[in-house]
Amino acid sequence: RMELSKRALKMEPSVTLAASAKAKTLKAEGKDVLSLTVGEPDFATPKNIQEAAKKAIEFGETSYYTPTAGIPALRQAVVDYMQDNYDLTYKVSETIITNGAKFALYLLFQVLLDEEDEVIIPTPYWVSYSEQVKLADGVPVFVEALEDNDYKVTVSQLEQVKSAKTKAILLNSPSNPTGMIYTKEELQAIGEWAVANQLVIVADDIYGHFIYGDAEFTPIATLSDAIRAQTIIINGVSKTYSMTGWRIGFAIGDQKIIRAMTDLASQASSNPTAVSQYAAIEALSGSQESVEVMRQAFEERMEKTYQWLSEVPGITVRKPQGAFYLFPNVRETMTICGYEDVNDFVEALLVEANVAVVTGKGFGAPDNIRLSYAADLATLEEAVKRIKHFVEKKQ
Ligand code: PLP
Repeated sequence: RMELSKRALKMEPSVTLAASAKAKTLKAEGKDVLSLTVGEPDFATPKNIQEAAKKAIEFGETSYYTPTAGIPALRQAVVDYMQDNYDLTYKVSETIITNGAKFALYLLFQVLLDEEDEVIIPTPYWVSYSEQVKLADGVPVFVEALEDNDYKVTVSQLEQVKSAKTKAILLNSPSNPTGMIYTKEELQAIGEWAVANQLVIVADDIYGHFIYGDAEFTPIATLSDAIRAQTIIINGVSKTYSMTGWRIGFAIGDQKIIRAMTDLASQASSNPTAVSQYAAIEALSGSQESVEVMRQAFEERMEKTYQWLSEVPGITVRKPQGAFYLFPNVRETMTICGYEDVNDFVEALLVEANVAVVTGKGFGAPDNIRLSYAADLATLEEAVKRIKHFVEKKQ
């Protein structure tokens, strides 16, 4: 009677959340662990957003269910945000507010996929995509974005994995975990290929505001009307406004799909937290000053940590163009240290060097580890120092 369903049995827990929980437990036990595990900005949610939430509580906006797809003013704020930032015109009915972008993706795969429908996912990929596709009885089809091509896939690679069952392709640019960004031309080629093959493009644009150097972020939906018609944009306030705990994300695109997602959410979760929705209105339509402050801080940390990491024996690392992760290839470093499996290497870093990072395996990349630079500079410097000492000692 107490046996788990097949669905539950085939599910993997999130490796990033697991790694972060483990680091937290060790810290609570008094260990001096530095954690570079989690994808949450380490800044406080900006004051103007906090104030909007306080006001919502004081005005009693908390004692009722909101509409499932979100309060109209927030959906309108999403529409305005897309217009102002990207010159993309959407109707309110083409938007849904969700409990984080993660739940938007979950709802999307549930309403999009039939049994055995395939979703092309470039690897390395954010840990939840494949599990969410499986939870919807779909099949994740991985295509390896090569390190030599800056961890980006090409149309000819996509052509090789396409089948009669392919329903959608997932794009996450800037990428978690690699920090890479597809150029406009690359996206145009992939977008046109998806249109020609009648595939839905799932565009996870959540890191679109954290861009460094001379890199540029292009939402794929801006590239043509045909591409836009087949794209569902996933985004949210978690990263851009340091609001991971508030749990507000959104999806934008085809009205029929958005309506089905809304119907499913109405049965699953009713609505995103009311207070958080009021905070998100302020985030999207209030002052954007804090975003640039955070972006600059991330860029400085990235530049420095990238330099420090480059000095660790055996490590090769691409310089990120966006997001807040470094994704070094540690295959040679592991060989130097006598490890075969990246999970063992990560465990040893935690236990022996007191540095918590995430195994690349959960991202489909067994030669890599992921470091989040959503931590202060002193922590980052000390963490990389510890990794370097660890490797040098084992040499
Ligand atoms: N998409 C990517 C690529 C992410 O890295 C994350 C968070 O780590 C999410 C979506 C989900 O964000 P949230 O559910 O906090 O909006």
